[in-house]
Amino acid sequence: MVTTKRIRPVGMFDEVRIVTFDVPVDGEGPVLDDVRTVPAKISKSKFVAGIQCLKRLYWEVHEPELAAAPDASAVARLQQGHEVGRLARQLFPGGVEIQSTRERLGDAIRATRELVANREVPAIFEATFEHGGVLVRVDILQRRDRNRWRLLEVKSTADLKDYHLFDVGIQRHVVSHCGLKLSSSSLMHLSREYIFRGGAYDLGQLFRIRNLNRQLPKLQRKLTTQLRSECHILSQPQPPDVAPGRHCRKPVLCEFFACCNPERPLDHVTRLPRINARTVEELKALGVESIRDIPEDFPLNDMQRRACASVKTGQLWRSTDLNKQLQTLKYPLCFMDFETVNPALPRFAGMKPFDYVVFQWSVHWQDTPDAPIEHFEFLADDHADPRLPFLESLCEVIQGAATIVVYYQKFESGRLAELAEWFPQYEKRIARAQARLWDLLPIIRDNVYHPAFQGSFSLKRVLPALVPEMSYESMEVSDGAEAGVAWEKMLTCEDAERKDLRSSLLAYCGQDTFAMVRLLNVLRLRANVQGGAEAP
Ligand code: SF4
Repeated sequence: MVTTKRIRPVGMFDEVRIVTFDVPVDGEGPVLDDVRTVPAKISKSKFVAGIQCLKRLYWEVHEPELAAAPDASAVARLQQGHEVGRLARQLFPGGVEIQSTRERLGDAIRATRELVANREVPAIFEATFEHGGVLVRVDILQRRDRNRWRLLEVKSTADLKDYHLFDVGIQRHVVSHCGLKLSSSSLMHLSREYIFRGGAYDLGQLFRIRNLNRQLPKLQRKLTTQLRSECHILSQPQPPDVAPGRHCRKPVLCEFFACCNPERPLDHVTRLPRINARTVEELKALGVESIRDIPEDFPLNDMQRRACASVKTGQLWRSTDLNKQLQTLKYPLCFMDFETVNPALPRFAGMKPFDYVVFQWSVHWQDTPDAPIEHFEFLADDHADPRLPFLESLCEVIQGAATIVVYYQKFESGRLAELAEWFPQYEKRIARAQARLWDLLPIIRDNVYHPAFQGSFSLKRVLPALVPEMSYESMEVSDGAEAGVAWEKMLTCEDAERKDLRSSLLAYCGQDTFAMVRLLNVLRLRANVQGGAEAP
């Protein structure tokens, strides 16, 4: 049955003709005489963007050219998502995909109608529906008995997140209003319980399907209100006035981040470590924007108070405890750093979705305070499983170290723990290495502050502040995410590019450990500890 009605004017959707269709009771295929002549203005992804921020939705629709282009990591995540989607479909043999472009959505809606009517088709991929100006393309629509359907949204995540509910909820809303009876609406995501045994994936185990039938009805009112707000906002001549905040990064980094979060002056209050939005608002209410103007009696934690003092004086602050902390270091010293990727799909036997693949390490070594510094490194450069060669070569190099210096111990220690599980024959050696880890990050965080830290204790910020001749700025690979992307690319590209990527990766990881060597020297010089000599 076809129903055509007029909806109340809602700005840009004024007088839009909405066509819905029901699965007919007489066994004939559903009929869709007409589709809206106006292209849909809100897709499912835009609706979800609007939940994060109405201003983001507005810009996505009206001024998409303001958006930052996705970086290489985002592109890689997208490709990973496609691969996960492709595998999910294999669980629905005989399923038919509806291919369409933005310009031919009417055709996609018509094709969906035909496939819905064809009882030979067990599942439809990218089934396309429109209702009330919202267009959705359903990842998987599976035919069930008694003219009912199962709606599945596939995500390359390891769990159900709050925003997924809206994602599935809007699809359920549109599909149901188009007349299809849904037996369930579910999220299909990767299971962290699944252990890959090598060969082909056991897809039944790799995926977990969560029926959201109980949660979604509770969301209905919120969803309707949200839809109304989105339609209203989109009909306005200007974007809504939304202040930036934590929502700019959660659940995803907004593509308009730079538009709403311009670079602040180096002494801006947002550049205090771990400052929260409420404190920033309180300072704003007092008319304070610069750290220099924060009143002495304004409540700040100890770390913020000393950062404040450092910015006001323009001097490095150091605790009287620093000396004592540095005395705990024992020689031979080694400085260690790992590079990893954590693919959604487990790559080697024994791994689960999102487990880390360690592919590179760098170690700088010093026998005594006056001894020269030596460098060792490992980089996997083919498609073979790198975990065991990584571990064997690392253990050989670090075994004699009395102290192993790292920056953010939780990461290196976590990867070592995983390697111990995969290779129990190394368990004892790994436990010994873990016991000798010495984390430089909290030493700096609790004992040193320089105005150029700008509120951050990341190596990228701390290094140029304390060792001005070193920085990551002009490096081809300049952070961990880029290293992962470069490594994946190196495995597949031609020789010349491969050589360049290899050099960039070695330079980056080597810089991380040499940075620790130099930082430790600076700290020792400041604290007058033996061994605080300029490194070569
Ligand atoms: S940067 Fe923040 S405030 Fe600006 S559009 Fe994005 S989410 Fe909204």
